[in-house]
Amino acid sequence: MIATTPPTQKPNSCKDGILNYSADELEAKFAEEGIPKFRASQVLVWLYRFGKTSFYDMTNIGTDLQKRLDEMFYIYRPQIIATAESADGTVKFLLEMSDRAMIECVYIPDIKRNTVCVSSQVGCAVGCKFCKTGDAGFTRDLLTEEIVSQLLVVRDYIGHQRKPSESELLPGDSQCIEGTGSTQQEADCGLQLKPSESGLLLGDTERRSGVYIGVHEHSSTGSTQQETDYGGLSEGKSTLTNVVFMGMGEPLLNYPNVLRAMRNMMLDEKVGLSRRKITVSTAGISPVIKQIAKDLPCRLAVSLHAPTDEIRSSIMPINNTYSIESILAACSEYHSHHKFLKITFEYLLLDGINDSKECAMSLLKLLKPLHSKVNILRFNSWDGCGFRASPSTKVQSFTRILSTGGLEVSIRSKRGADIMAACGQLSSNAGDCTVIQSRT
Ligand code: SF4
Repeated sequence: MIATTPPTQKPNSCKDGILNYSADELEAKFAEEGIPKFRASQVLVWLYRFGKTSFYDMTNIGTDLQKRLDEMFYIYRPQIIATAESADGTVKFLLEMSDRAMIECVYIPDIKRNTVCVSSQVGCAVGCKFCKTGDAGFTRDLLTEEIVSQLLVVRDYIGHQRKPSESELLPGDSQCIEGTGSTQQEADCGLQLKPSESGLLLGDTERRSGVYIGVHEHSSTGSTQQETDYGGLSEGKSTLTNVVFMGMGEPLLNYPNVLRAMRNMMLDEKVGLSRRKITVSTAGISPVIKQIAKDLPCRLAVSLHAPTDEIRSSIMPINNTYSIESILAACSEYHSHHKFLKITFEYLLLDGINDSKECAMSLLKLLKPLHSKVNILRFNSWDGCGFRASPSTKVQSFTRILSTGGLEVSIRSKRGADIMAACGQLSSNAGDCTVIQSRT
């Protein structure tokens, strides 16, 4: 099910935002205007695969159609107001929308994948007590164009920072040097991939330039994996492979736009990501988890963070509406549609709140029956929050209980914490970013 609301027009403009259209909607619009259907596919390739921002650059559609489309549509891009680069290579972007609303998105390079963490709303209404985004409140939902353009902006930025070398411009996938070994890797935002699953690149141009250099080893003990630190943005990090909806906002509370954005990211003639490369993270909006199971088999990450309703409600007020029982029931339904896809349960360890041995035992009991894995997160502090991160000894013992009990567990590496780009740290101000454009 995709929303039937018409794409929103840019304020003070009679033009439509073309990135707000799904492929079907664009074909229908072209048909209405008497434009042949195949032209929609051509335009989508220019928009998404080649990232064009002017119809006059679309060289195979003819000058008449270029002019006509330019009169009908605008091609949206937010302004990059500021950026910050972490010592680990993570880059945070502060973006300004047309109405001057501000959001952040994050680029997370790694050896076998380069992930973009996108926002789905300006702020967030869910109000998790440990989250800086939630602390700032909710402004509005993002439009489809404001979601997909985060990816396009990051791709442009990364491309501008680094020109491909001569050897990278030679055609052929055989140039991709993949990391070796069978150790599973954990994406920063909770997606675990086998080496053979990674390396899907964005479009033909990117595929030609997608050379990975270097080896990133992950230590592994039993079924518990812990990541080693990653040492900075290096050559070969210009290709985007994964998208995670873990930025600002609760994606399932802006479902029509998020669903349309995901479909646009997945289409071959558009960004071309596989559904396995897109992860939606939710605080547990049970009815929409059931809906997404029917609509789109993307990966699902559920922010659980507590094994009992009492603890969960004390740190996540949304639990008073959607209890743990209702979330797990929705997850079971998701599994009935997608038996092969594991659900990731995120568990943020907060000192003295949810990190006891009893909590670990209860969590084990709760999740053992599900086809799932647990992603342990260490708390990233921010000014004014009333929580502390659990000490390493507690993190280890909590993880061991889950692991020896038979659950698949990962401890997520901290990425971008030094630039306030880690989970739960995003907000709408420049903070320690480098300001690129002053706001007037
Ligand atoms: S953790 Fe996610 S759902 Fe909770 S307040 Fe923050 S952005 Fe919203």
